[in-house]
Amino acid sequence: MNISIDFDKCCGAGQCVLAAPEVFDQRDEDGVVVLLDENPSAEQADHVVQAAAVCPAAAIQVQL
Ligand code: SF4
Repeated sequence: MNISIDFDKCCGAGQCVLAAPEVFDQRDEDGVVVLLDENPSAEQADHVVQAAAVCPAAAIQVQL
């Protein structure tokens, strides 16, 4: 699984962090997403796909 993020699109909504806190975090200063793990394990796949689905800015791209 490979994740790419368009940081310019991210509006800091934090939905990805709620869906997959092991993979996503947010910067303290502006809430922009931080990718903790660019290549998460298979166990994280469902959470990461969910995070991409709920992102209101469509900033998360996932390649399985
Ligand atoms: S859900 Fe999308 S817009 Fe919100 S912090 Fe995560 S990447 Fe950014």
